[in-house]
Amino acid sequence: MTDTVTHPFALALEAWYADHRRDLPWRGTRDPYRVWVSEIILQQTRVAQGYDYYRRFMERFPTVRDLAAATEDDVLRAWQGLGYYSRARNLHAAARAVVAQGGFPRDYAGVRTLRGVGDYTAAAICSIAYDQPYAVVDGNVYRVLARYLGLDTPIDTTAGRRRFAEAADALLDRRRPGLYNQAVMDFGALQCTPRSPHCDGCPLAAGCQALQAGRVDELPVKARRTQVAERFLAYIYINVQGNVLLHRRGAGDIWAGLYEPLLLEFDHRPTEPEVLASPAVAVLGAERGTWRCVARDVRHVLTHRVLRADFYALTLPRLDRVPEGFVSVPEPRRADYAVPRLVSLLYERLSR
Ligand code: SF4
Repeated sequence: MTDTVTHPFALALEAWYADHRRDLPWRGTRDPYRVWVSEIILQQTRVAQGYDYYRRFMERFPTVRDLAAATEDDVLRAWQGLGYYSRARNLHAAARAVVAQGGFPRDYAGVRTLRGVGDYTAAAICSIAYDQPYAVVDGNVYRVLARYLGLDTPIDTTAGRRRFAEAADALLDRRRPGLYNQAVMDFGALQCTPRSPHCDGCPLAAGCQALQAGRVDELPVKARRTQVAERFLAYIYINVQGNVLLHRRGAGDIWAGLYEPLLLEFDHRPTEPEVLASPAVAVLGAERGTWRCVARDVRHVLTHRVLRADFYALTLPRLDRVPEGFVSVPEPRRADYAVPRLVSLLYERLSR
């Protein structure tokens, strides 16, 4: 598609955007590093929460060189609380690759090779930073296009992804791709919202197929319902004479590189005697110390699973040796060690 005539859909969106755009700290920049960091933060994070994290991240790592020079622990600490930590590890690894290759890639293929950068993020960076004609397709765009064009191909199928990518490309304003992409994203977030979209006064209403057909609530269509699995965890916060035992998680899951107290996993909701009887607790000699239940059934919801955790605290008078894989940390320095969200909740409950 090389047509440079701007589609009326794009013109209407851009006019709407001029009056309604969100005032966000990453708006107005064309620095690919800043665009990249903001887009990675906004994956799986609400804008209101991402706002403060972006500011703090930029103060801490103002350039890609600063990020590349940081340790992984530094980066994870700056990310703490945002969740989905593979994003931070990928940002860090990609920053090192960018510095090693002498600067930020200038084309889509190069940007797409950066770790953690998919089609959406590459399109956002290339269009916003370089004004290159790549249309973004995210949840907001799926929704706006499905409704405006009346598309009912399921968005989570290969055919759907292809259909929507073609439609997004056809509607893209090739003269102002960065502006257009930001306009369609804001429009989906503010006007054409998932529930109760503001069809009254919508500048696209006259051409909106879903509105004409009374199908706004039906679109977009998904083929599969997301399966949500439950996992049952127990955290044991062990304190030995003012030092807490923390374990650094290895590679292989979303919390790799973060610290946590002793963690047990069960295939059902465990009773307190079951937790006490588990070999990892029994070996500590819990009967020598003070054991208490801090909280039961604390829930943490991730995209495809719900974590249900019980929190316990064990205070021991002494320990012959620190268990393998753990570090002993003076309790006041606990905050130097980045932890998953569930462990932050444990810390909060402990201090109540
Ligand atoms: S008329 Fe309603 S459904 Fe159609 S684009 Fe506007 S807000 Fe979305």
